[in-house]
Amino acid sequence: MNPCHVCEKPTKNKCSNCNQVSYCSVQHQKQDWKTHKPSCHPFKIAHNEQLGRHLVATRTIKPYEIVLKEAPLVRGPAQISAPVCLGCLNGIEAEDHIECEQCGWPLCGPECKSLDEHKAECSLTKDRGQKVNVQEFGGPHPLYTCLSTVRCLLIGETSPEKASKFQELESLESTRRGSNQWKADLVSIGQFIPKFFKTQKFSEEEIMKAVGALQINGHEVPTTDPSHVAVFYTASFTENSCLPNLAKSFNKNGHCILWAPREIKKNAHLSICYSDAVWGTADRQRHLMQTKLFRCACERCVDVTELDTFYSAIKCEDRQCGGLMLPTKTDDWNGNWRCRECHKQVQKHYVERILERAGKDIQSMEKTVENGLKYLKHYEKWLPPQHFHISEIKILLVQLLAKDQKELMVIADDKLLLKLNYARELVELYEKLTPCEVRTLGTLCFELHSAIAEQTRRVALETSLSPKDRLEESLYYVEKCVNYLQYESDIFIEGHMLKQAKINRDALRMVIRI
Ligand SMILES: [Zn+2]
Ligand SMILES: [Zn+2]
Ligand SMILES: [Zn+2]
Ligand SMILES: [Zn+2]
Ligand SMILES: [Zn+2]
Ligand SMILES: [Zn+2]
Repeated sequence: MNPCHVCEKPTKNKCSNCNQVSYCSVQHQKQDWKTHKPSCHPFKIAHNEQLGRHLVATRTIKPYEIVLKEAPLVRGPAQISAPVCLGCLNGIEAEDHIECEQCGWPLCGPECKSLDEHKAECSLTKDRGQKVNVQEFGGPHPLYTCLSTVRCLLIGETSPEKASKFQELESLESTRRGSNQWKADLVSIGQFIPKFFKTQKFSEEEIMKAVGALQINGHEVPTTDPSHVAVFYTASFTENSCLPNLAKSFNKNGHCILWAPREIKKNAHLSICYSDAVWGTADRQRHLMQTKLFRCACERCVDVTELDTFYSAIKCEDRQCGGLMLPTKTDDWNGNWRCRECHKQVQKHYVERILERAGKDIQSMEKTVENGLKYLKHYEKWLPPQHFHISEIKILLVQLLAKDQKELMVIADDKLLLKLNYARELVELYEKLTPCEVRTLGTLCFELHSAIAEQTRRVALETSLSPKDRLEESLYYVEKCVNYLQYESDIFIEGHMLKQAKINRDALRMVIRI
């Protein structure tokens, strides 16, 4: 029995959403809802030595359930950014913008002038006694490098509550101190802010701590063009995993939505991928070390086979062998690699040469079906069929082979089959390896559903076979697509795909019912 949150009468009843607060009656629950709502989540913030603060599910979380929807604590231009409007953070052009009368920073129009978020740099610039004058609009502009840090430093002027939350965030300042990135940041931000804004308001240490907190906790938010950076307070306590249990989406306003593509059991730790789960392990680890300063030891990272997908493996140097080569030590991608069949070893630079060439060839390739097929034919000599480079090209091919419904109707039978087979193979691979990469999965399911539907249409034209099973399979994948993309805003391509998927789903349901 726990005391009712309102009257303290002992009770067994708890709020069914968060499972953490007790109420003696529906009345008392209703009465308290307004105050309780902001902290009512199906998880709690827990703490231990090893992980620091982290999030633990307080009940079973159902598939597709939103676990957390959160507005940013602070947001601003990316550290390397072309001039953007300091109201809405969208890009601006030389001929098409206004200047804030108070500070001179460019804005896209009068509607962006009065936004609260601009107040930080606006007041600091006013105090400087001289307006800024931005003239170059073509590329990254050095003045913008410090702006998100300025917003963090002045967060308390608009909200003391936000300021104390910001203070709680990890900055890893002592780990960062002295690194090349830290030294570059010291010049472009730490020493730049006092000089440029002619202010003694902030100590160098205070500024560098804010820079660290931004880099460690910042998310790239693609709801503006170019993307901006934002920090989300509660979301910052989710653990990193390259096999996470939460997907991350953003709504139109740049609020983050963390949700569960699959069921999450009670007491499980909540996690997202801080890197890109579609990358191979060596690339993810390098990226995490550079940007977040830690070595990931998640389930996927400690398994060189990446759940038996051999996503990062190369084929044995001995062509006759047919085995796959992977690092000899799970935690050292820079040491020797060994064949799992014949045990032959090669040095890292042998592997590097192959992977570098394979990566560069993708970058410089004009993205056409012919080039994609040529790439696969060439690199299958060195890379297994599920390798991340091969998979990247297959994703490309699935999208390029019949880019829309019109092309789908006339594409040659063999090409259609290719699209269908690659899509099927990739859905299977990524559902295993990256179950929370919902945009990749949703897109692949959409392509697979449409390829199956088109193939069925062709078969039905030529024979009297009942296509019902095939249509049901097509429906199965379009429903999956809707599930994966359901929180995608219509400012994104995936949001448009979601709309089409819903139309196709309803049409298929009708046809199957008849
Ligand atoms: Zn009560
Ligand atoms: Zn609750
Ligand atoms: Zn604007
Ligand atoms: Zn201003
Ligand atoms: Zn990992
Ligand atoms: Zn071998």
